[in-house]
Amino acid sequence: MSSGRDSGAEFDHPTEKCGVVGVSLADRDAAFPTYYALYALQHRGQESAGIVSHDGFQQHQHVGMGLVGDAFDEADLEGLVGEAAIGHVRYPTAGSVDKSCAQPFSVSFKGGALGLSHNGNLVNADDIRDDLAASGHAFTSDGDTEVIAHDLARNLLDDDIVSAVETTMERIHGSYSLTIMHDETVLGVRDPLGNRPLIIGELEDGYVLASESAAIDTLGGSVVRDVRPGELVVLHEDGSGFDSHQLVEASNTAHCFFEYVYFARPDSVIDEELVYEVRRELGRQLWAETGVESDVVMPVPDSGRAFASGYAEAAQNDGAGVEFAEGLMKNRYVGRTFIMPTQEAREQAVRLKLNPIKSTVEGREVTIIDDSIVRGTTSSQLVDLVREAGADAVHVRIGAPPIVAPCYMGIDMATRDELIAADKTADEIAAEIGADSLSYLSLDAITTAIGKSESDLCVGCVSGEYPYDVQDEATDRDVEHPAAGASADD
Ligand code: SF4
Repeated sequence: MSSGRDSGAEFDHPTEKCGVVGVSLADRDAAFPTYYALYALQHRGQESAGIVSHDGFQQHQHVGMGLVGDAFDEADLEGLVGEAAIGHVRYPTAGSVDKSCAQPFSVSFKGGALGLSHNGNLVNADDIRDDLAASGHAFTSDGDTEVIAHDLARNLLDDDIVSAVETTMERIHGSYSLTIMHDETVLGVRDPLGNRPLIIGELEDGYVLASESAAIDTLGGSVVRDVRPGELVVLHEDGSGFDSHQLVEASNTAHCFFEYVYFARPDSVIDEELVYEVRRELGRQLWAETGVESDVVMPVPDSGRAFASGYAEAAQNDGAGVEFAEGLMKNRYVGRTFIMPTQEAREQAVRLKLNPIKSTVEGREVTIIDDSIVRGTTSSQLVDLVREAGADAVHVRIGAPPIVAPCYMGIDMATRDELIAADKTADEIAAEIGADSLSYLSLDAITTAIGKSESDLCVGCVSGEYPYDVQDEATDRDVEHPAAGASADD
């Protein structure tokens, strides 16, 4: 029997692995604002948190396991002196839950001190690691962030930071939003296809880079704009502004559509779209495409909430006599992981987290709205729960297309074998989870709600075709895979 720890995926959802921050201020320490910004990005990673600062002379670092609130105490933050800082929250892959994998990654070398926070995943990291190892670089982890750091450090021996980043971008392939600290200069860069988000904010006395705008709001700042795909942004050390360097131009983007569907906070604006509004629109489209008559519509909290309200609004506008209700109550004190030593306990897991309100569902036809199904294990428990509470019928509606393929860009999505939709139709899945009916939203509805064409989005996990050159997988575009062996020395 496998370990008794829930892998952490919130109710069988895909799991974002990281959030990044960078702060440069005029004349106060950057550690506290970085810490608050990490708090705002806590949903992007709960296993470790870290900050690296620079005081003009040297780097200071603190990384800790667990939530942001557990990883730092006041003394830790006071020790992180300096007006420049970068931060990171991380959800590591199974087996690497230890401090050596926590970020930011930091290294001191002949060319100065370097810190790196990474959200995303390179698909050619092994090639570059082999190349660097052959020229004498020693690695302390198997992560791709260290590969980027070593490559940058090598380039910095000959070049300034802008040219060094440009050279590294010519070699790495895959998904990355990075905040970088070179000595006391904070930089942000987004991969040429802009797979993961990164946004610039202005504070009264400086500038901030963060995975999501909600972090900028939390600091009382104002959003300037998204970092453009392929752009390097260099924050001024005195907090007075930033410089932009468009290092790579690509004709299309590949924004992860799941950021809008599930990962990002609903109050964040990503690539100029408010996530909450996108989710409401997805809910309306879900009614238009898959609406089913029922007495009550209820979200799986918290992620299904905006979908369900959009769905119910569209249903009511069409004259359907359906009530919107919060019929599933969530226990907010159950963490992302908890001990489940037996199969029986695992089957009970959903009861720990959710409890149906009997009077809302008893004797009624119920539609449950969620944003995704990965393995299907918790969906069947959820349907059981609602039936046991007295529902006459349980319909399930999902605000995204079926997940049929894994993610190679930094999302913990499960393997193809584990994905329930990889080889089953919606009707077969409905039968397996015990629902009276199950329908998914179409990809067309997703592109309409986000306001971007499919060729500007990554939809790899629902189409099986990726915007990057992933080994043994199909791609949906003309990908230029860099030659990993082409080193800066060549
Ligand atoms: S494969 Fe899916 S989860 Fe991964 S980046 Fe693409 S859209 Fe996002």
